[in-house]
Amino acid sequence: MNDCLFCKIGNGEIPSYTIYEDEVCKAFLDIEPLTNGHILVIPKKHYINVIDADLDFVTHAFSIIKEDLYPLLQKKLNCQGLTICQNNKYGQEVKHLHFHLIPRYTDDEFKSHTNKDLLIDTKDLFEKITEK
Ligand code: 5GP
Ligand code: ZN
Repeated sequence: MNDCLFCKIGNGEIPSYTIYEDEVCKAFLDIEPLTNGHILVIPKKHYINVIDADLDFVTHAFSIIKEDLYPLLQKKLNCQGLTICQNNKYGQEVKHLHFHLIPRYTDDEFKSHTNKDLLIDTKDLFEKITEK
């Protein structure tokens, strides 16, 4: 996609602080980090989100996360854990698949906030989801 920001980061047209790169993916520092070492992992090929993506890429990305990036973040930044998230359509600012790797630290105060008033009773919700 010619006009896509992350396609341009993927092919090097737009610079990024690249932490890892191979033929199919790139991992680089987020421009507005939530914690120290917040990394985005993207495919070089344009997929909009995970629903659109080739599962071979997803498997590859998670093997890089597991074998390379998480150990690197632990070693270099001494993080205590890692939150992985990925927005699909709603809440997705950049429409090119990216996995957020958010290193976790004691007292980082990272939290997801939602409107609890919208929550349905768990039993009712279970019936709604599993109803034939
Ligand atoms: P989303 O809301 O789509 O899940 O996340 C998009 C992410 O991309 C945000 O965390 C934002 O800070 C990051 N981002 C947006 N533009 C750029 C950029 O030009 N360079 C880098 N490195 N990150 C970006
Ligand atoms: Zn793209």
